[in-house]
Amino acid sequence: MTFHRLLSHKSWKAPQWFQKLGVVLGTLGLTGSALAWTAIHRQHHAGPDKRKDPHSPNIQPWWRVQFLSMYYKPNLRFVKDLLQDNFIVFCHRNYFVIQLCYIALLCIIDWHAIFYAYLAPAAILWHGGSLINTVGHKWGYRNYQINDKSVNNPVLGLLMWGEGWHNNHHAKPLKKSFKVKPWEVDTSAFFISLFEK
Ligand SMILES: [Zn+2]
Ligand SMILES: [Zn+2]
Repeated sequence: MTFHRLLSHKSWKAPQWFQKLGVVLGTLGLTGSALAWTAIHRQHHAGPDKRKDPHSPNIQPWWRVQFLSMYYKPNLRFVKDLLQDNFIVFCHRNYFVIQLCYIALLCIIDWHAIFYAYLAPAAILWHGGSLINTVGHKWGYRNYQINDKSVNNPVLGLLMWGEGWHNNHHAKPLKKSFKVKPWEVDTSAFFISLFEK
């Protein structure tokens, strides 16, 4: 909801405090900083399944996209707007400090929380997000015959809160909701609408 739809595509608006909260929570998801994530994602949209796509499973081995795409070096040319945001730059520069502060906080509350309130959700987010990049460009159906290999995958659509309707998203990347057909449930869009209200 934050890294993807709010920052990368600006498909909805949130008050600054809410955006900051989303940036911090996203940072704790261990898929890179908001700045890096957005740069890589915008580069993906600039030429999906083409030579400069940072994580196309149709160009690179799938295992590299599944397990290593978060280590791709971001091209800051894609995030000139976010470089003007001091808080986002701060969270980028202090990415590991933020992780350590959170771990320290969890240790104070209950060290078991490091697993269930940090590592486990981060692992789900990492692999779920990577599945959008791999499966979402290989296995599924298409509502739009566009110039890339993006597909809609119903399992990922439901599990990843609408992100799995990836062909719909590639066809209309600025839309807040990825739902096109009635059965394509988009949980993220539901919560975004709720937050907006
Ligand atoms: Zn894609
Ligand atoms: Zn996108």
